[in-house]
Amino acid sequence: MMRRAANALDRTVDLLVIGGGVYGAWIAYDAALRGLSVILVERTDWAAGTSSASSKLIHGGLRYLEYGHLGLVRKALVERRRLLRLAPHRVRALRFLLPVHRDARAGRIALELGLSLYDLLAGELGGPHAHRSYGREALLARCPFIERSGLVSGFSYSDASEDDARYCLELVDGAIGAGAAAVNACEALALTSDSGGRVFGARVRDAITGSEHEIRAGITVAAAGPWTQALVTRDPRDFPVRLTKGVHLVMPPLPMPEAMLLTTRSDRRVFFLIPWYGATLLGTTDTDVAPGTSETTVSAADVDYLLRAVEERCPGLGWRRRHVRGSFAGVRTLRAEGSKSPSSVTREWSLESPRPGLLVPVGGKLTSARVEAAATVARVQLALGRTQTGCPTAERPFPWAPPGDFDTWEDTTVRAGVVLGMDEEVARACARRHGTTTSEVHALVRERPEL
Ligand SMILES: Cc1cc2nc3c(=O)[nH]c(=O)nc-3n(C[C@H](O)[C@H](O)[C@H](O)COP(=O)(O)OP(=O)(O)OC[C@H]3O[C@@H](n4cnc5c(N)ncnc54)[C@H](O)[C@@H]3O)c2cc1C
Repeated sequence: MMRRAANALDRTVDLLVIGGGVYGAWIAYDAALRGLSVILVERTDWAAGTSSASSKLIHGGLRYLEYGHLGLVRKALVERRRLLRLAPHRVRALRFLLPVHRDARAGRIALELGLSLYDLLAGELGGPHAHRSYGREALLARCPFIERSGLVSGFSYSDASEDDARYCLELVDGAIGAGAAAVNACEALALTSDSGGRVFGARVRDAITGSEHEIRAGITVAAAGPWTQALVTRDPRDFPVRLTKGVHLVMPPLPMPEAMLLTTRSDRRVFFLIPWYGATLLGTTDTDVAPGTSETTVSAADVDYLLRAVEERCPGLGWRRRHVRGSFAGVRTLRAEGSKSPSSVTREWSLESPRPGLLVPVGGKLTSARVEAAATVARVQLALGRTQTGCPTAERPFPWAPPGDFDTWEDTTVRAGVVLGMDEEVARACARRHGTTTSEVHALVRERPEL
């Protein structure tokens, strides 16, 4: 993707979007498809913030049922179904195993009820993706590395996964294709406003040229994730949010294709083991980050916490510090909800307007960002006095989604990759990563076979 900053900055547009994470990308894409003039600016690179540090799941969030957040789960499950259909190259169904230990967070009956409700909300009750229960021995045969002591039984259920950074990149490319200007390495230094306090854009700095510019916009959306508070106010009390850090460790592959949902023994939090490009993601933590910072370092305590959790529940894996292949941390931006524990703070999304001319998305999930971006753009149209048009992304295949039957396309594309000398697994990963733009990767390999 070429960076074209010249002519994009110093302009007057309908909508300025600050932040190239999943929210900024969806909002810019949706608005451009509705015919608005749009500039999207990103301080570093696309998805450099929280949107490349997630658990990579497109999921309803089974654990949110426990807090009674039915609306949130239902919305996410509807989106899961939609995204599986609109982005078959990107969003893939993933089966989870869920062992039930005697000291688990929820007992067998509660889980049976919860999983049935999850299937019902997803429209999958009794269908091929519905949950299944396992007896103790059947579960041990599937994953012999789990803790035997106290193991009662287990379940399997379905969710989906994706590559979050690629997901954003594809949407930014879609936004450009729909007419938006998208400039990375371009930081919004400050919002600009008139004497009445109405925001009319931002002063930005192009990090490549060092030049500063003023972008004037009818509406500005600050989608800067954990950095939003610093952008919209000098006094955090004017715009209170809760920031919590989540860490993942990259571990060796599991001896099975499924993911796992487990609960820690110490504080009974949910954590996951998720297959990821031939490795496993182990995560996540949930600890408060001081307001005004967006610290993303992985501490020794984070590593110890996750290794202890997995050792208690899956001792047969034998994972130690030396098995850690990598790690990353992301920061959640949540609503400020008093002294609740980080894990119990709602992940509900909201759209705030702290100043006229300015909209700020808060909270949310990668899973539900599409529909929330659509709601944001509807508000933008209203504020600009434009005719409300229908949501253009609800039925539109992703920008790089292959047309027609996905399996046929994938087989053909994988075979083409193998002919070029890729091994089959790499050719498949390449097809799913690049979608229809895989042909450009193949052309590159043809040109430079040493690649
Ligand atoms: C550990 C963890 C696991 C998660 N797992 C999942 C999951 O499995 N599934 C799911 O659905 N959700 C998950 N989430 C939630 C999801 O990742 C977030 O809701 C989502 O990524 C937030 O996107 P965003 O666009 O709001 O923020 P970000 O991705 O942080 O994007 C903000 C962008 O703004 C840029 N920026 C900041 N300041 C400026 C400025 N002044 N000028 C220009 N640009 C600026 C930043 O560089 C950044 O790229 C998880 C979150 C965490 C922390």
